[in-house]
Amino acid sequence: MSTNITWLGHNAWLVETAGKSILLDPFLNDSPTSPVKAENVKADVILLSHGHGDHLGDTVAIAKRTDATVITNFEVGEWLKRQGVAADKVIGMNPGGGCAQPFGHVKFTTAQHSSSMPDGSYGGVPGGFVLKLAEARIYFACDTALFLDMKLIGSGGLDLAVLPIGDLFTMGPDDSIDAIKLLNPKRVAPCHYNTWPPIAQDAAEWANNVRSHTAAEPVVLQPGEKIVL
Ligand SMILES: [Zn+2]
Repeated sequence: MSTNITWLGHNAWLVETAGKSILLDPFLNDSPTSPVKAENVKADVILLSHGHGDHLGDTVAIAKRTDATVITNFEVGEWLKRQGVAADKVIGMNPGGGCAQPFGHVKFTTAQHSSSMPDGSYGGVPGGFVLKLAEARIYFACDTALFLDMKLIGSGGLDLAVLPIGDLFTMGPDDSIDAIKLLNPKRVAPCHYNTWPPIAQDAAEWANNVRSHTAAEPVVLQPGEKIVL
């Protein structure tokens, strides 16, 4: 068995593992770079890092159509229920918490960011995710600044870290190099860049810096391309 991790643009990812489809931050129909439409994706589980529209995206519609379980922070989970997502399909967590799933274990990690819902209501604490799968351990930092506790997140060993490099709303390329040094993953993939001009970055230059300054192998994808672990 292998695990496929496909970039759907911005911070949207599809992880296919153990016969399950796991969507992260499915901002698809309004994304300038998504290769897929929300109507066409499969999902058994949706991971949602925080309430901002470029992450919440099509979560409500996909969850209702697919009956997927949504794993997110507590307040976003309560908001999703108010939008009609089935209460028994929402798992609300807080940083440090985790839950067992049929494909492995999901942990909600700290992120240095903000969170609010499109209607202005409180969006709880933003986070990232560590997935412990049969084949691999994967960290999705999601929207965050660099923080020193990344050392702890990496201490169990990471096969892949996915980091934002767009700057402005999240860490930029330079801070991501320090993040990689703290996390020490085998491979690292960038995201949350080139979606719009304010977060444009040169991923090839970033990859060169990763090779020069860290022990990780950079993997730069185009939307629609995947990593196989
Ligand atoms: Zn974002």
